[in-house]
Amino acid sequence: TEEALNHAQRLESVGQLTGGIAHDFNNLLTVIQGNLQVLEELPALAPNALVQQLLSAAKRASRRGAELTGKLLAFSRRQRLQPSAVDTSGLLHSLADMLRRTLDQRIRIEIDTARDCPPVMADPGQLESALLNIAINARDAMPEGGTLRFRTEACGALPPALHNASNNDATTHFVAISITDSGTGMSDDVKERAFEPFFTTKEVGRGTGLGLSTVYGFINQSRGAVAIDSTVGQGTTVTLYLPQQAQPQPPTRAEERADETIPL
Ligand code: ADP
Repeated sequence: TEEALNHAQRLESVGQLTGGIAHDFNNLLTVIQGNLQVLEELPALAPNALVQQLLSAAKRASRRGAELTGKLLAFSRRQRLQPSAVDTSGLLHSLADMLRRTLDQRIRIEIDTARDCPPVMADPGQLESALLNIAINARDAMPEGGTLRFRTEACGALPPALHNASNNDATTHFVAISITDSGTGMSDDVKERAFEPFFTTKEVGRGTGLGLSTVYGFINQSRGAVAIDSTVGQGTTVTLYLPQQAQPQPPTRAEERADETIPL
């Protein structure tokens, strides 16, 4: 748990730092892009093919820079979450439909949602983007195709190893959402570092190393937990634990008595 706390603190300070840098950088990029636009439209330069080629290369590069700073900003923003009761089965079915349409056809998508799985309390938009992040990692781990499976299960208390400062209330029950791929898997080293901001094994331009750290931040803020189980050559399962929507508790005897004595 101390480790989890350290991790959360490190994430927070990295978040503040990158947020500041990304913000300033974005402003500079806006200036660069604006000037490139003006240059491109200057009549004197229009006939020069080389100039036009260089300008459009510079514009492409600054557009990529803007995309990257956008991701950094999304990561560092301490998002204001708007939790509501989310039906995970519905969310996963619509995500799976979208993935079937967009991912490589060699990736089989399966869903196995528990009947009567209680709703979870989470921000639905953020939950969807967390799942999408994990699904895209799974896709990247299966370049030749494979199986991507979503499962949900009501699971009572958290596995003790996952307790941390934000989720150690013993009365909360959880739903486990797991995403399993049949991809490359992770070595122990990679697994250890997978949640670190900026840790990536992907080539420059493909990975930012912000996917899983963003997922980690969101799940922690939602008083949940996340675990990775992975075997090299077999695949990876990422499991998100989110609190079940609180069930209305039957009133205790004391509360019932209090009700009886409230003057009308
Ligand atoms: P990115 O995807 O940009 O690299 P992430 O934080 O999402 O950043 O992931 C960090 C690293 O964890 C990846 O570069 C990859 O090495 C590893 N990883 C994440 N998901 C998987 C997966 N499903 N299978 C294998 N490796 C994974």
